[in-house]
Amino acid sequence: MQKDIATPVRTRAILEKHGFSFKKSLGQNFLIDTNILKRIVDHAELTEESAAIEIGPGIGALTEQLARRSKKVVAFEIDQRLLPILQETLAPYPNTTIIHEDVLKADVLGMVEKELQGIDDIMVVANLPYYVTTPIIMKLLEEKLPIRGIVCMLQKEVADRISAKPGTKDYGSLSIAIQYYTEAETVMIVPKTVFIPQPNVDSAVIRLTKRKEPAVSVKDEPFFFQVIRASFAQRRKTLLNNLISHLPEGKQKKEDILAALEQAEIEPGRRGETLSIEEFARLSESLYPIFK
Ligand code: SAM
Repeated sequence: MQKDIATPVRTRAILEKHGFSFKKSLGQNFLIDTNILKRIVDHAELTEESAAIEIGPGIGALTEQLARRSKKVVAFEIDQRLLPILQETLAPYPNTTIIHEDVLKADVLGMVEKELQGIDDIMVVANLPYYVTTPIIMKLLEEKLPIRGIVCMLQKEVADRISAKPGTKDYGSLSIAIQYYTEAETVMIVPKTVFIPQPNVDSAVIRLTKRKEPAVSVKDEPFFFQVIRASFAQRRKTLLNNLISHLPEGKQKKEDILAALEQAEIEPGRRGETLSIEEFARLSESLYPIFK
């Protein structure tokens, strides 16, 4: 078996050899703890028939662990300076492919069709760059990729918001957007000491298991999310006041909004953060004829 990339000594040697300097603007905090990496991969429940899509391989610390436990790994890396390093560190793993691209601009579905043909079980596994965690996760979910789910490291504070339940301070439009597509759980809390350089914030690993169908069924998804964003626009305001102020032409439609709340059996004086995803679906369906 090859020596692990993710030990402090080997990582420093690789970085020194290539004269690599970290770019904070690209969220470069590399993992230097093999045990943590193995536990992250455990949560993805890969088999020899699975494929993994990685975002941001860095010097290949996680890529290596994924390559050992799956059929194929495809990783998107934005930083060109890492390509020659990855070529060297991943040379022992012919089942890895690196794509030099910003994942937010990449045609991920096209990549799956080209690179992962015939593989039925696909997981996204990543230690995400923290400056773009939410856009990356939302892109992967909204594009309806044929993946089983996502296991990723991110800021603990964002993990708390993603897996929050109604009625808690962390519950908001992000919780609902992600729980609409997936079952979300925080599976690990990770100390700062296992990264170089150490990030300023605490980290966590979440597991998002894609639902077969979205959690609720709505006529118009964009409108459903518009209602949710409006409901959380000012957290201290009541649901009614937020809908009036933050839905287009809400002010002129106050009476209709009140009637829609009544139809959905939701008290107008409640706050957005107390509504379950099912209640938001009911509300969006009863508001729909008024705004559409
Ligand atoms: N996987 C490595 C590890 O765990 O040690 C590195 C993780 S580091 C937190 C994030 C990585 O994402 C960096 O390699 C960075 O260059 C890369 N990255 C940042 N923004 C990206 C983007 N938009 N698309 C693809 N990769 C990106």
